[in-house]
Amino acid sequence: MTQHVSHFDLHTHSTRSDGVMLPGDVVARAALRGVKAIALTDHDDISGLAEARVAADAAGIRLIDGVEISVSWQGHTLHVVGLAVDPQNSVLVYGLRRNRGGRNGRAALIAAGLAKVGIENALEGANAYVTNPELVSRAHFARFLVETGRVRNTQAAFDRYLGEGKPGYAPHLWASLAESVEWIAAAGGIAVIAHPGRYKLDDRTRAALLGEFRDLGGVGIEVVTGSHTPDQYGYWAKRASEFGLLGSVGSDFHGPRESYKDLGDLPPLPSGCPPIWTRL
Ligand code: AMP
Ligand code: MN
Ligand code: MN
Ligand code: MN
Repeated sequence: MTQHVSHFDLHTHSTRSDGVMLPGDVVARAALRGVKAIALTDHDDISGLAEARVAADAAGIRLIDGVEISVSWQGHTLHVVGLAVDPQNSVLVYGLRRNRGGRNGRAALIAAGLAKVGIENALEGANAYVTNPELVSRAHFARFLVETGRVRNTQAAFDRYLGEGKPGYAPHLWASLAESVEWIAAAGGIAVIAHPGRYKLDDRTRAALLGEFRDLGGVGIEVVTGSHTPDQYGYWAKRASEFGLLGSVGSDFHGPRESYKDLGDLPPLPSGCPPIWTRL
C-alpha cells in the first residue's frame, strides 16, 4: 500500500527541546520517509539547526531553519512557529534565551505542585529525561509520570496533573505575541500560529487573536497538523482565508512513540487554501 507523504513537514522537535531523537536523526528519518523539506522547530531553542543542516545536506533534502516560541496572550499560552529564520540573528537569539531562562524556575514550581499531591522527587524524575539543560518541558514531567505508573499515557498526565488548573500546573509569563513576531521578523523569518485548534478560545477571542496576529505581521496558521483532527482542517482553512493568512502543514513530531503523526504523515491542505511554502 502506498501511503501519502507530505513533501513539507514544517513543525518538528528534537532532543534540543522535548523530542526524543537527535536533530540529525530527525532529518534523516524525514528523508527516508520521503519528506523533501523539513523545518526543525524546537521549543524556544535553535541550537539543533547546525546539526540538522549537516544531515539535510547529506540526505539531499531541504532544511528550513525554524523555532517554536512560547507566548502568553490574554492569559493563554500559545505557540508561534518561526520559519526561515536566521539562527545568528541577535534579536532572536537573545529573545529565545530570555524565554528559556524562566523554564528552570517554572520546573521547580511544577515539582512543588506535584509534591503537594504526593508525587515526590518529580524534578529529578523529569530531569532524567531532559536532553537540553536549558529546556525542561512539561513533556519531560509527563514522561516521568507515565514511566512511574502514575498515569497510563501522556494525555492522562496532562489531563490529571500538568494541564492548566491541575496540581502540577505553574502559570508562567512567556514572550508577548508582538515580541514573538518581532523576533522572527528581525531574523528574516515568517511567523505562523501553531496548532490553533488546541487553544480553548471562544469565537470572539479567536477572531481577536487572528486579527491581531495578522496586524502584527504574522503570515500563516497551521491548518494540517498532528494536533488537529481531520474534521478541523476545513475549519482552519476557512479561518486562514478569512484573515488573509497562509496555511501551514506540520506533524509536531516528537518521536516515533511520542507523536500521533510520524514525519510527513500529513494529508494535503484543503483545496483553495494557499500554502505557506510560496513564501519560503
Ligand atoms: P511546555 O512548553 O513546557 O509547557 O510544554 C509543552 C509541551 O508539552 C508540548 O510541546 C507538548 O510536547 C507537550 N504537551 C502539551 N499538552 C499536551 C497534551 N495535551 N498531550 C500531550 N502532550 C502535550
Ligand atoms: Mn513539545
Ligand atoms: Mn506546540
Ligand atoms: Mn511543537
